[in-house]
Amino acid sequence: MLEIIRMDKVKPKKHLGQHFLNDESIAKKIVDSLLEQCKDNNILEIGPGMGVLTKYLIEEKQKSITVAEIDTESVVYLSSHYPDLHIVEGDFLQEDWEKLLPEPFSVIGNFPYNISSQIFFKVLELKHHIPMVVGMLQKEVAERIASKEGSKKYGILSVFLQAYYDIEYLFTVDAGVFIPPPKVQSAVIRLKRNGVKQLLCDEKLFVRVVKQGFNNRRKTLRNALKPLNLPAEILEKDVFNKRAEQLSVAQFVQLTLDIQNI
Ligand code: SAH
Repeated sequence: MLEIIRMDKVKPKKHLGQHFLNDESIAKKIVDSLLEQCKDNNILEIGPGMGVLTKYLIEEKQKSITVAEIDTESVVYLSSHYPDLHIVEGDFLQEDWEKLLPEPFSVIGNFPYNISSQIFFKVLELKHHIPMVVGMLQKEVAERIASKEGSKKYGILSVFLQAYYDIEYLFTVDAGVFIPPPKVQSAVIRLKRNGVKQLLCDEKLFVRVVKQGFNNRRKTLRNALKPLNLPAEILEKDVFNKRAEQLSVAQFVQLTLDIQNI
């Protein structure tokens, strides 16, 4: 039996980004968005709170389910209701996941919005360990992550994540289904690891080029990349007339190759 929690009994903590989802059909839809793509998974849920997603994961009996929750009150609740659940009490961003979970795991969560970008940077650090992510976050960040070159929303996180993941914007969620409602709309996105083990270019240089390019996103790459002190000959190339937001991931890889081969 699934337990539906009386949300009027819970006091959300603002500083922990607690906005509890109070709509069972959306909770189920989020869990299905992960499970329909991969069966019998190792799963890590970030920020389970009162377990609105967790209970559907448990019902579907995955290979293993671990949750990372920073809030002691939620941890106490979860451990009393789900005694077999593997709960890591702490900050998702600080834990050593490769050590805690030696096998690859998929990530799911209604993320704490105050750290949603940081969660995705952490996913990037663990990309060889995380085949799939289904996450709810603020709509604006979700759109940024999913948007393609040519869009004003396309940025550093889009390029880095799209280099290693295929990304889908799944659906938008209204603020009214949360307790308390966040100030912004939310969205659910899905990231699936693509086949890229390693970029064809120097990955450290790629990171520098992308960051530097978007640092001055309105400038042409010729101006934005000045701090890299590139020789005049290479700056003659056509690509330097473009702005960072006009380059696809593949073009950033090519640009990095051109620069490293000088
Ligand atoms: N999944 C629940 C709660 C979402 S609110 C639901 O949908 O109702 C976000 C949750 O993330 C809260 O439970 C909060 O305590 C937790 N959280 C906040 N910062 C965290 C961190 N750094 N690491 C792990 N959990 C965190």
